[in-house]
This record gives sequence, structure tokens and C-alpha cells, in this order.
Amino acid sequence: MEQDQKPSNFIRDIINQDVAKGKNGGRVHTRFPPEPNGYLHIGHAKAICISFGIARDYQGLCNLRFDDTNPEKEEVEYVDSIREDVRWLGFDWGEREFYASDYFDQLYQYALALIKKGRAYVCDLSSDAQREHRGTLTSPGKESPNRNRSVEENLDLFERMRQGEFDEGSRVLRAKIDMNSPNINMRDPTMYRIKKASHHRTGDKWCIYPMYDFTHCISDSLEGITHSICTLEFENNRPLYDWFLKELGIHHPQQIEFARLNLTHTLLSKRILLKLVQQKIVSGWNDPRMPTLSGFRRRGYTPSSIRTFCDKIGVAKFNSTIDRVVLENSIREELNKTAPRVMAVLDPLKVVITNYPEGKIEEMEAVNNPEDPAAGSRQLPFSRELYIERDDFREDAPKKFFRLVPGGEVRLRYGYFVKCEKIVKDASGKITELHCTYDPETRGGNNPPDGRKVKGTIHWVSARQALKAEVRLFDHLFSKKDPTDVPEGQDIFVNLNPKSLETVSEALLEPSLKNAKSGERFQFERLGYFFVDTIDSKPGQPVFNRTVTLRDTWEKIERKG
Ligand code: ATP
Ligand code: MG
Repeated sequence: MEQDQKPSNFIRDIINQDVAKGKNGGRVHTRFPPEPNGYLHIGHAKAICISFGIARDYQGLCNLRFDDTNPEKEEVEYVDSIREDVRWLGFDWGEREFYASDYFDQLYQYALALIKKGRAYVCDLSSDAQREHRGTLTSPGKESPNRNRSVEENLDLFERMRQGEFDEGSRVLRAKIDMNSPNINMRDPTMYRIKKASHHRTGDKWCIYPMYDFTHCISDSLEGITHSICTLEFENNRPLYDWFLKELGIHHPQQIEFARLNLTHTLLSKRILLKLVQQKIVSGWNDPRMPTLSGFRRRGYTPSSIRTFCDKIGVAKFNSTIDRVVLENSIREELNKTAPRVMAVLDPLKVVITNYPEGKIEEMEAVNNPEDPAAGSRQLPFSRELYIERDDFREDAPKKFFRLVPGGEVRLRYGYFVKCEKIVKDASGKITELHCTYDPETRGGNNPPDGRKVKGTIHWVSARQALKAEVRLFDHLFSKKDPTDVPEGQDIFVNLNPKSLETVSEALLEPSLKNAKSGERFQFERLGYFFVDTIDSKPGQPVFNRTVTLRDTWEKIERKG
């Protein structure tokens, strides 16, 4: 069987047993059920990879179902973005795109059926009073005075709720289960509430809306789902789902819970992500710093790197936090194989090669990708005036500094060996340029015949031909590893990293990048992997987002303290 190729996990163990037993006729049918109240984030990617991955490996099906029971928070924009993101991740739900709101009529009929069975009643308690009656984890609940209404009265009141006769919050329909249950979810939970709001799909047809818990399990059942895979926080809802399905006598999917994904320096909660967008702390849901799939896409992550990450972290039954480095390594490993190398200088320092003829331009051959011989090579202009990274020169260098120092020699990648002869400074003492000499015997950056060696190789661009471009560098949105670690009384946003975005408005790039197309990926040698922004780039004028650095610089800094 194909599933043997995948690492086994407890979910697949359960499914293997069910398939072996011939449960559901051996069928495997899963679903991914987002609420369209925000964009999908990397946590959702884990859920998508699990449910769609299982359907794929067991020759089963996976539905996309929008759990759109809340008319107020949901928008068509979110539905569209969710579709786009699931497709981008590489999954296909075929014709099976469903909406919980498609089941509103059926759900209403089921509610009537439960009323008729004496298993549901209309309750007039205010929401505050209901909360009081519910009890706590350690104390039992108290029954509603309306709990023993007759079936006729309940049917009449529920019908009048539907007709819009009562105000919002004045009445609800509740399941009649057990106010003494140790599981608070079982203490006569609300099934329907009055909301005089338009719904993005059903318009003004309804002014009563079913609650998530009532809707969710029935939607799964109606779709013939065999395995309802969800996160651990729904474990305590399972008995309620079981109760509804049993009382209604309808198909019973097996719910299986797994631990949600948590990432360091990251908050995966649509509520908080929405706040970041609304308060304009980020530029939108697709800001490259956002942990949303659209944010990762715009940052330059590939769908395969995210799928690889989800496979790597596996599935467990206990909550834990994954280091963001694991995610970064997944895109690094992929781009190392696929991204062409180019040279770019982010913080330029001018170098004049005093013994190089004025006006001369040489074309130097540069390898596009040492990991991929098929990628070939390109020509780079070399001339008397160049730029190097300011950081690659030190006047007072520490011992192990192998780049350029006064009187020292360094290799310009694919260029020549150059030696620093003179430092030029402005009135404030800032270095404005370096005067160097080059060794013509080192063309291409090769060692000279005299066997002389240098320890350092640095990148550069030729001044006259360089392309000026905007480059954006990103850091974690939250500086604390655990962003929820907030001093008492303070907002979670105190942990925002003020330096999460650094814009280099005039980086200098090798001229070949003029033709870089929106959505292309490159390695800027020694600086990281970069993605041509799909929104702000113009033809001939690309804007670059750094996807990830070449190494994990953050961890190093943090460990040093
Ligand atoms: P959030 O807490 O971010 O608002 P949610 O759980 O309310 O997310 P839904 O739209 O209800 O968002 O989620 C759809 C599915 O994705 C659910 O089955 C949920 O269990 C799963 N999911 C949500 N967050 C994560 C996560 N961090 N890791 C794994 N799965 C997740
Ligand atoms: Mg939810």
C-alpha cells in the first residue's frame, strides 16, 4: 500500500485499522473545514497536509468545507483567499467545495426533530444568566426554568424565533442533555441563536443561526466523512458531537484530534493576525512577515518547502512549539538546489582600482548555480569602479577578519585579487571610498602563478552598470520566542519587534537582474535567498524580498545574548 511510504503516525494507525476492518466499506474521506473569518496560516497548512495527504495516500477524498455559521465575521474575500491558498499548497478538492450554510435547511429540520424528541428546548435566560447557570469545572450547573417546556410550546417558540418575532439575545434553542455533566460542553449547550444579520451566502433568509458545535458534526455526517481530523482543543467537544449524531441517528464520522502547530516568535491566531492587519502594523494579510500562507508566498516560500516542513514535524497528540529554524531550513535546503546565484551589495562602499584602465570593461564569467551544472553561467561586467559591502572592510580588524583590511588582499568573486592601498574619508571621518590595486594574474578570481593565497572572498558589483533596486529584509514579527509571554496588564503587541522590516531603498545589483521577473527566486551571494515581489515590482524595476538568510543568524545572536 502507498501509505507505507509515509512515516506512520497515530492517525494513520487508526485509519489502517478502520480500513482493515472494512469500516465505512473501507472508504477514507476527510475534509478541511476552515471558518472564512481570516486568511489561512501555517498552522492551517499542517491541517491541510494531514487531511489532504491522507486522502491522497489512501485513494480517498478530501472536501473543502467553509464552516460559515457566523454571519458577522465572514467575508467573501476570505473564502477566495482560502481557495487560492489551498490550491497553492498543491491540493485539489475537485467538485467538493461545500459550505455549512448549504445545510441550514437540513440543520433546521434536525433541530425540529430534536425538539420533537424532547431533546431540545427554547430557553429565555439572558446570556449572563445562562453563564451563571452553567456552573464551573468544579461545580455542577443549574437547570433553566424553561427546561421542561412542552414540545408544542418549544415548536411554537422556535418557529417564532425563525420568523424574527424576538430580539437578538432574548431566546436560544438548547440541547437538553445534562446540567450535571463533568464536561461543560454537555450542560445543555446552545444550538441556535437569534442574529438579525445578513449572511454572505444565505442573505436575509435566516435570522436564527446554528452554533458551530451543532453544525460542524452534522456537516461532517452529511458529507459522509469517515475521519474528522481536527486539533486537540476539540477533544472535549467530541462527546457532544457524538450525542447529536446518536440522537439524530445519522452517519457517525470518527473524530481524531492532533496537536496544533505552534512556532517560536510567531502567533497563529486569526484573531490576532486580523488585529495586526486592522491596526496597520503590517501592510496586509500578505505582508511577508505574516505567518499566513499568502505572507509566506510573498516572502518567497515555495509550496513544496511548506509541505516538506509539515511532513518533517509529524503529527502528535501533545502540544509543543517548533523552532522557526526548522521551517527556515526547509526553504533553505530547497533554494540551495534551485536558486540561481547573483551578486548584490546592500550597503555599498566604493572601491576604485587605481591600476585598472579607465573606461575598460571586462566581461567575467560567473557560475549560475554550483549545485546545478545545468544552470550554466553568465557574464558580469568588471571595471575600475566597483562597490563592495561596507561590512567587508574593517580599518581596525580583529584577528580572524579575513575580508578586506588596510594593506590586505582579498578575492573579488569571479573578479580579481585586490589589495587595499588607501582609505578616503569625509570631514566627519566616514569612509567614502577605498583605493585598491588589482593583480592582472588573478583573472576570474583564480590564484596567481606565484602560489599566493588569500583567505577571504567577497562579492561586488561594477559601479556604472549596477542596477539600483529596493530590497526588503525581514526579521521576526515578535522578538520574544514566546510572544504570549507578556508582562501583566500589557498588550501582546509589546512583544512586537520594532526592527522586523528593514527597507534598503537603493541596493546595487548586478545588471542581469534588470530582467528579473515577478515571482523569481535568487540567491544573493553571501546575503540570502531573495524573491521578486509580486506586487510592487515593475518591468525592469524589480523589488526584492529576502526569503531567508543563508544561515540562521538569529539563533547565533540570541545565544550570544
Ligand atoms: P485560529 O485559532 O487561528 O483562529 P481556527 O482553529 O479558529 O484558527 P479554523 O478556520 O476553524 O481556524 O481552522 C480550520 C482547521 O484548521 C481546523 O480543523 C483547525 O483545527 C485547524 N487549525 C487551525 N489552527 C491550527 C494550527 N495552529 N495547527 C494545526 N491545525 C490548525
Ligand atoms: Mg475555529
